[in-house]
Amino acid sequence: MIYLDNGATSFCKPPEVYRAMYRAIYTCANPGRGGYAAAMEAGKVVFQCREAAAGLFDCQPEQVVFTSNCTHGLNIGIHTLVRPGAKVLISGFEHNAVTRPLKLLGAEVQVAGRRLFDWEDTLSDFEVQLRRGVDAAVFTHVSNVFGYILPVEEMAALCRKYGVPFIIDAAQSAGMLPVSLKKLGADFIAMPGHKGLLGPQGTGILLCNRLPKPWMAGGTGSESMNQEMPEYLPDRAEAGTLNVPGISGLEAGLRHIKRQGVDEIGQRERYFAGQCIRLLEDRGFKVFSGEHQSGTVSFLPQEDCEELAHKLGRLGIAVRAGLHCAPLAHESAGTKDTGTVRISFGHDASYRQIMALKQGFARIMD
Ligand code: PLP
Repeated sequence: MIYLDNGATSFCKPPEVYRAMYRAIYTCANPGRGGYAAAMEAGKVVFQCREAAAGLFDCQPEQVVFTSNCTHGLNIGIHTLVRPGAKVLISGFEHNAVTRPLKLLGAEVQVAGRRLFDWEDTLSDFEVQLRRGVDAAVFTHVSNVFGYILPVEEMAALCRKYGVPFIIDAAQSAGMLPVSLKKLGADFIAMPGHKGLLGPQGTGILLCNRLPKPWMAGGTGSESMNQEMPEYLPDRAEAGTLNVPGISGLEAGLRHIKRQGVDEIGQRERYFAGQCIRLLEDRGFKVFSGEHQSGTVSFLPQEDCEELAHKLGRLGIAVRAGLHCAPLAHESAGTKDTGTVRISFGHDASYRQIMALKQGFARIMD
């Protein structure tokens, strides 16, 4: 299969990820729940992953909270910062993983910056609304639909300037662009383990710069007499048994990224996205591209998006069509009624994938 849906999840994972998960199932019991070898081994696996993540994202190991996906981390962050009725500023490119929790909480949502690939528009609109006063901000680092890399460093600096707590959704940037909790100064940064970090599905990370409100309460293997959740990280946000095989696989993914290099992976994905854009434009499709583009490209074919994705799928080429769980992004770009076809490259982006696409379009259209 030619897999071009890395925006959804990375696939295939590096072989060491499968091996680490297999080993964990055979050698690990419950971390932090006993002093015998198999429990200690589980604790070691979990701590090694925390350390690897802390190294990659420039924070302390205890600031790394394991979650079951990016949505889980975003919910913890949002429920900590946002009270019902609070004014929350978001970008025009947010995923439902941000907008739905805000809706559930009854937040008053304000959208800033709806022009694709336009840093000036994003930043000026963002600042105007921050100056008017909001209670919190939540914004994505990269649009999952269009691959627009938002100016998060500048947006973070504006939030700090106006004293507004904020959350960054790094679902489409972790493992592909530098992300530093220290430099960004975000209250929370949420990310999946299963996309750019190359871990398995069911893993995620929430980087915490403040104590979160417990989203779930339960056993942590610590302070068992205390009926409140512990007042320290990561225990406060990690109730119940952790996904040790998943975390072990995630650690192998993080090691793979460290070896390949985040900058190299990002550059590779962006290079092949550029090749892909040329190919799509040659085919006469409307392509959404611009400066500040990641390895993700959306386009509008002459025919129905789902139909084209289905035809490519029959040829063994995996792309995604539709609204990609981000109706707000499509509203911003004017593609709400049609959706788009999305091609998203991964760490293994190659000419083989570009050639397969070229041949695929030729077979469908010529
Ligand atoms: N945020 C963005 C920008 C995403 O692209 C996604 C997933 O596609 C999510 C959040 C949710 O990630 P997860 O499926 O790991 O919860």
